[in-house]
Amino acid sequence: MNQPAATAKSRVICTVDFEREGKQADVLRVPHSRNDSGWGVVQIPITVIRNGDGPTVLLNGGVHGDEYESQIAIAELARTLQPKDVRGRLIVVPALHFPAAMNGSRLSPIDGKDLNRCFPGRAEGTFADVLAHYVSAVLLPMCDVNIDLHSGGRGMDFVPSTTSHVLDDAARFERTNALGLAFGAPYHVVIKEVDAGYTLMTCCEQRGVVAISSELGGGNRVNPGGMVATRQGIARALAHLGVVPARTAPAPSPTRLMTVPDYDCYAFAPRGGLYEPYHGLGDAVAKGDAAGAIHFVDDPHREPIVIRYGASGELWCVRAQGHVQAGDPVAVIVAPYR
Ligand SMILES: [Zn+2]
Repeated sequence: MNQPAATAKSRVICTVDFEREGKQADVLRVPHSRNDSGWGVVQIPITVIRNGDGPTVLLNGGVHGDEYESQIAIAELARTLQPKDVRGRLIVVPALHFPAAMNGSRLSPIDGKDLNRCFPGRAEGTFADVLAHYVSAVLLPMCDVNIDLHSGGRGMDFVPSTTSHVLDDAARFERTNALGLAFGAPYHVVIKEVDAGYTLMTCCEQRGVVAISSELGGGNRVNPGGMVATRQGIARALAHLGVVPARTAPAPSPTRLMTVPDYDCYAFAPRGGLYEPYHGLGDAVAKGDAAGAIHFVDDPHREPIVIRYGASGELWCVRAQGHVQAGDPVAVIVAPYR
């Protein structure tokens, strides 16, 4: 899970002066050479608010374009937050993978890539590689903390949660969990992820940046409960970090520290078909229980395949679409972290 260093010079044009006091609303210009515009760029809104000494926090949404709660809440913050409200430096990017966000898709409509599998990026790569490289080579070296907010996208529906990884550095692990608990979503989940090696969170971890992510809804829609968790969570997390005054934060909200310790917690569809889940989000389930069934409506005489949970705990997320393909996760279980 070692990412190579991002050392080459970034190809992204940014005229923000990150050292300047005050509020700057600008764009990142990421090269996108096209048949009709050789010097064309994709303009990604970025807002930087600086007021005196304090931590530098990169707060971003829209790494996946079909995850909406954070895009709304972070754009709101960019619009409303003033330098007098801030201590230190806040770098705010509501829709980091901008072409995907405008397309409402997880993957880039430009190069087909998942930005969260491209870190630390490559200056000589495609659009998503170049964007990831800018974040890792230019933004992260300035940052103490990254809050990279996600939801379940088209594929999954989640109990609103923040997430982080197990870290070897005990002090940083504790600071990371404390930030997740301060955010105040129903769960903070220490997760063993599928294919985490090239994510923004792993990139942060390898550079000593405290990082949390999230799953704040899903199903390719804006979830009202997810919006509350996102708006309040951002305010609590920034207050916890000292970037905004504590008096502006909503009251603390109880969060349960949970874990996905291994891949037994994931249930994958062995075949494609129509997935019928048997439980709702947050339900208590036991290893061996039937999680749901895959139905074959094109072959009504074929018996459905029953999928069983590989671990006991609570149902953290379920497949948000009726159709599944072989290999799609249909459920993930969380258990209390001990
Ligand atoms: Zn995501």
